[in-house]
Amino acid sequence: MSHRWNILYRGPLSSCNYACDYCPFAKTRNTGEELRDDAAKLTRFIDQVERREDREIGVLFTPWGEALVHRAYQQALLRLGRMNHVYRAAIQTNLACSLDWLEEADRDTVALWCTFHPTETTVGKFAAKIHRLRETGIRHSVGVVGLKEHQADIAALRSALPEDTYLWVNAYKRVADYYGAEDVEFLRSIDRLFPINNQRHPSRGLPCHSGHASFTVDGDGMARRCHFIASPLGSFYDADFDKFLAPSPVPCVNDTCGCHIGYVHLPHLGLDEVYGDGILERIPMG
Ligand code: SF4
Ligand code: SF4
Repeated sequence: MSHRWNILYRGPLSSCNYACDYCPFAKTRNTGEELRDDAAKLTRFIDQVERREDREIGVLFTPWGEALVHRAYQQALLRLGRMNHVYRAAIQTNLACSLDWLEEADRDTVALWCTFHPTETTVGKFAAKIHRLRETGIRHSVGVVGLKEHQADIAALRSALPEDTYLWVNAYKRVADYYGAEDVEFLRSIDRLFPINNQRHPSRGLPCHSGHASFTVDGDGMARRCHFIASPLGSFYDADFDKFLAPSPVPCVNDTCGCHIGYVHLPHLGLDEVYGDGILERIPMG
C-alpha cells in the first residue's frame, strides 16, 4: 500500500450547542436544510474515502461547530471504523452528545478529541463522560484552552480524570505575552507538551507534510494543504486526485504555524515520534 494520508475534513456545518466566549468561529444556527446538505456532503466524502482502498487513511473531522450531536457524524465515524484501509477516524468534539452509539464503534479506529469548556459544563459531568469512554474502550484525548481564569477548573479536571489520561492544554495566543512564568509552570505541570503548543513555530520555507501526506477537504470536496493556506490543490473527487499532491514534503508559505493540527506535520519538530498513530486525535505515546 502507498504512503499514509492524514485527511482533515470540515464541511459547512457551523452550529454549536455551546457558546464559549473564546470561540473563534461565528456562532450560527443551521436550518434543517443546511444540516441535510452538510450530511449529504459528508456522505460523499465518506464514499470517496471508501473507494480509496489503495491508501492507508486517517481522518480527523474538524468542524466549525459541534458535529457529534448529529447522527450523520456518528454514523460517519462508525462507517469509517469498518473500513480496513482506514487506520483512524477521529473528531473534535465538546462531548455533549450521548455516548450510547459508541458501543458499535471499532475500538482500534474510532477516536475522540474531547475539549472541556468550563463555562458550558461542569468538571463532574465532563469527567463522568471521559470515564465512560474509558470503560467502553474508545480512544480519546482530553484537553482545554489554557485561559488564566480557568486554572482552578483545569486543576479540578486533572484531579477528576484517570491518572494516566493525558490532558493537553491549548495555549491562548490571541493576546501577546498573555502568560507569566507561574502560569507557564502551572500549565506545564498539567501538560508536559504545553511548551510545544505555547509558541508559533517558524515555518516559512520549511518542508511540511501538508500537501504531500496530509491535506484538508471541505464540503465541496476541495482539497487544500491545510486549514491555514487557502489556495486550493484540486478536488478530492477528481479521478486523478493524486496528481495534486507533492511527491515529498513541501515548503510552507506561511511565516508560522501555531495549531497542533498544523505543526505536527512539520517533520523537523519530530512530533511523529511523540504521537505515533495518535497524532490526529492528539494522544502521545507512552
Ligand atoms: S464548544 Fe467549540 S464550537 Fe462550540 S462554542 Fe465552544 S469553542 Fe465554539
Ligand atoms: S507548517 Fe502549518 S501552515 Fe505551513 S503547510 Fe504545514 S500545516 Fe500548513
